[in-house]
Amino acid sequence: MEETTFKGVRTRMAPSPTGEYHIGHIRTLLYNIAYARKHGGKFIVRIEDTDRTRFVPDATEKILDVIRDYGFSWDEGPEAEGKFGPYVQSERLNLYKKYALELVEKKHAYYCFCTSERLAELREVQQKQGVSATRYDRACLKLSQTEIEQKLASNTPYVIRLKVPENEEISFHDEILGDITFNSSDIDDQVLLKSDGYPTYHLAVVVDDHLMGVTHIMRGTDWVPSTPKHVLLYRAFGWKMPITAHLPNIKEKGANKKLSKRFGPVSAREFLEEGYLVPALVNFLMFLGWNPGTEKEIYTLEEFVQDFDTKKIQHTDLVAFDRDKLLWLNGIYIRQLTDSQLWEEVTKWAQKYNVALLSSAKNDEFNIKVISLIKERLKVLKEFSELTEFFYIRPSVDISMTVSYAGNEATAKEIITNFAGEYERVSEGDWNTEYLDKYSHELLEKYGYKPKEAFMTLRVFLTGKTATPPLFDVLSLLGKDQTLERLKI
Ligand code: GLU
Repeated sequence: MEETTFKGVRTRMAPSPTGEYHIGHIRTLLYNIAYARKHGGKFIVRIEDTDRTRFVPDATEKILDVIRDYGFSWDEGPEAEGKFGPYVQSERLNLYKKYALELVEKKHAYYCFCTSERLAELREVQQKQGVSATRYDRACLKLSQTEIEQKLASNTPYVIRLKVPENEEISFHDEILGDITFNSSDIDDQVLLKSDGYPTYHLAVVVDDHLMGVTHIMRGTDWVPSTPKHVLLYRAFGWKMPITAHLPNIKEKGANKKLSKRFGPVSAREFLEEGYLVPALVNFLMFLGWNPGTEKEIYTLEEFVQDFDTKKIQHTDLVAFDRDKLLWLNGIYIRQLTDSQLWEEVTKWAQKYNVALLSSAKNDEFNIKVISLIKERLKVLKEFSELTEFFYIRPSVDISMTVSYAGNEATAKEIITNFAGEYERVSEGDWNTEYLDKYSHELLEKYGYKPKEAFMTLRVFLTGKTATPPLFDVLSLLGKDQTLERLKI
């Protein structure tokens, strides 16, 4: 591949197909996209599938799908145009080998023929000696050229290792964390090319970021310890290193650990399946590490791109993932939709995630009215079925459930029978919220019931729930026939 001069900012996201994409990955992807867009640059997706032991066959497709489900796209990458592909590392193997050999040639790397048994023994011995990190003892660095050639000629399996200089300060400037220095004595002679012919992450990432003209690398702080190895590689190749910006990783709020299923969804897909709206999720992710320094909390993607600045990114390792705030934000986005837009979201979501909706038996007009009644209380789309079930099917209720409001079963029965008898006389034309409200309050006086006593009894008996939308809205929507049917004792 020819070296090319690139124009402008080029950022990238480099997923490894080892499993589901984490919500934190989408945050990192969002920042990379925002940075590229803000500077009129390009955003690249590259699949880093060189670790065959962790490779999951359909993970690439799933990751690309979920990126699209969050509303994002890439300028270059798999299934997109791009002059610097292929954008899947397993399709670039010859290239890595060529560059690994170039480093051997330049004496920045060397062949290592040690067997895995020898390396395991070495580790064991070092562990017994109590070293903080085990490392390769450079036995193969002492091999003569003839010995190397003999081993290669006899097809002895080998890896290629980086020759890390001894006791040297390796520094780089991180756009967010500032100047960072490592001592090379703490860095092992990193394997660059494995015996299966695949490159390690370190070699592949450096070669590809260079060949794809990446100008800015934004990734989680867990990659900081890898960066000095990359610095050495860029130096060995004589290439200019992209600017790095290490972003805080995400932890569960209130617990000093990474997101856990115990608290809710973790993967990017699970959040969508739970029924969070994409703009709400994206808005939430914007604030995981970045803050405009104003009170503004509701951001469209366009506004975010405008305001995004790496100077406003937190200089910490970890940022708290506040699930309550996400729920709150989702509620805001839900209430910004009209009833019919929200209904459309619910149906699209149910179809995508195979959720059977009871509402399919009713017409959209009815369903949209249902939505209008529960919209205030809906926090995630997943709650729709539970909040609305009683509109579609008669709940199984027992008179005993009303006792705490009516005082005893006899009074409960009396309330239900009296109201049923009175409602029977209401004409279809009067069967609406306003009339039922007024009339039912008159009935309280007529029979001498307290509001809570009568209305809670009716509510529980009609819906099976103690918390519902306003009672007379429920009656009105259920209709006269269904209401009377349910009030039969
Ligand atoms: N393939 C790496 C990952 O799985 C990419 C790390 C990087 O951005 O350099 O996250």
